Amino acid sequence: MNVIHRPIPAGKVYLIGAGPGEADLLTVRAARVIGQADAVVYDHLVGDGVMALIPTDAEKIYVGKEAGNHTLPQESINTLLVRLAQTGKRVVRLKGGDPFIFGRGGEEILELIGSGIPFEVVPGVTAASGAAAFSGIPLTHREVARTCVFATGHFHDGSCDLDWTALARPNQTVVIYMGIGALPVISAQLMAHGLAGDTPAAAVRHATLPTQRTIVGTLASLPGKVAEAALKPPALLIIGEVVTLREQLNWFEGLPH
Ligand code: SAH
Repeated sequence: MNVIHRPIPAGKVYLIGAGPGEADLLTVRAARVIGQADAVVYDHLVGDGVMALIPTDAEKIYVGKEAGNHTLPQESINTLLVRLAQTGKRVVRLKGGDPFIFGRGGEEILELIGSGIPFEVVPGVTAASGAAAFSGIPLTHREVARTCVFATGHFHDGSCDLDWTALARPNQTVVIYMGIGALPVISAQLMAHGLAGDTPAAAVRHATLPTQRTIVGTLASLPGKVAEAALKPPALLIIGEVVTLREQLNWFEGLPH
């Protein structure tokens, strides 16, 4: 049978990465499962094109999760998924990007396991991959960046307790999710821990979408530039020498949209 038409069983939860926005960046498996869903529980970073793949008679439940502003608390989302699966529905839990990268997907799965609900996880293109590809900034590059780290810039208690020494290592690319609000602190801490102020840095908003916007500067200048441009989330920070490759590799933003 054609891979697209393989049926999915009832009473199961599929935790699916919806990718960074554009529907055709979904995996084929994600598209197949979404197209057979009875109930879809989704959050605010799922793109309109992805939502359009949900069958019209499926129940759609918005549990919008913006940083620090949950429409439904995490515990209620967990119990909702269990309840839907127990009523025999084919349940899709749709999350932006990849569900296991700053997506709290693991917490939801643990709850399902506790209630004996079968599940599968479908990966998605994480924002870092989407932003890298569509802003022309490879996250690793021979002789330039041998490691790449992903960190979150969102802190529940307002503190910024990242391992700054580890993040400030040479020949490394640092990608920070949810880091726009804390950018001034992030920039100051990385410089205080040894990264040069002229280290190239970029902020990429709405990566992969026609509304994508990229601001390029240095570790020292980026906070001012982002504030001046009033750049709002969702945006990703990319810090490291790889950012200079964009001068040659930026293919997307010049295209007609
Ligand atoms: N699980 C998601 C990340 C969720 S955290 C993933 O794998 O991508 C939400 C953060 O992801 C946003 O604050 C932003 O930093 C980043 N993000 C998500 N989609 C994005 C996009 N299209 N462009 C830029 N950043 C994005």
